[in-house]
Amino acid sequence: SKAKLFDEKTDVKTSFKDVAGLEGAKEEVQEIVDFLKNPEKYTSLGGKIPKGALLVGPPGTGKTLLAKAVAGEAKVPFFSLSGSDFVEMFVGVGASRVRDLFKQAKEKSPSIIFIDEIDAIGRARGKNAMSGSNDERENTLNQLLTEMDGFGTNTNVIVLAATNRADILDKALMRAGRFDRQIFVDLPDVRERKEIFEVHLRPLKKAEGLDLDFLSKQTPGFSGADIANVCNEAALIAARNNKKAVDKQDFLDAVDRIIGGLEKKNKIVT
Ligand code: ATP
Repeated sequence: SKAKLFDEKTDVKTSFKDVAGLEGAKEEVQEIVDFLKNPEKYTSLGGKIPKGALLVGPPGTGKTLLAKAVAGEAKVPFFSLSGSDFVEMFVGVGASRVRDLFKQAKEKSPSIIFIDEIDAIGRARGKNAMSGSNDERENTLNQLLTEMDGFGTNTNVIVLAATNRADILDKALMRAGRFDRQIFVDLPDVRERKEIFEVHLRPLKKAEGLDLDFLSKQTPGFSGADIANVCNEAALIAARNNKKAVDKQDFLDAVDRIIGGLEKKNKIVT
């Protein structure tokens, strides 16, 4: 079986309504949606549409979700790939795969390319000279830079990339005409956590009077992904206990379970 190079989604349903909090980031990407929907409006005055933006923030904060929502709002195809898959799966052919990806995206433009974990490809060059895969990674990175530089002003493909390690990226990636915009996607504060709960509680059968302010206060440091997990866990716990609706205790048990999982994960790391 052939490994999949990238995902192509033509009918993205994700919208800004699915992305809770992140007001600043949403405002910044709204501009990209406008470019994609109406490029002539911008280029007619001589402006150049940006080619790329970097979404920077901790894991699980909604970077992928936001990129998808840009495609959904602009109603354009969404091409996505993960930097780490890329480096692992395509030994020897990384550069040609990048070429294929951009070719497809240009054919279907206006479109979005999303590269998750770009640090796997875009780490600063010249480090780890001992590792054999390094040349391969550099070739892939160079091809990515070449493709972005080769975009004409009216290509109408915008490349979004996500990382939680902007500090280790090759500075060449951030040069003008490449990923020259950084959009920060931070962990949610208590008010934003409440909004995220609201999104992920939508599909659940909730007990009467469930206090979202209380739940938001019980979950400091949780990412959007953690909160999505809590909601799902709570529903499973309630079902296991043969309840008709998910109640406060189910959520507290779910929070405990998620905290337990997070502590384990942190232990392995340190
Ligand atoms: P990673 O860096 O680990 O790839 P990410 O920042 O791309 O993470 P996502 O994959 O977008 O995070 O988030 C995972 C899931 O968590 C989303 O599909 C969504 O269910 C939930 N989620 C995260 N952030 C938000 C948010 N701001 N609003 C609503 N749901 C969110």
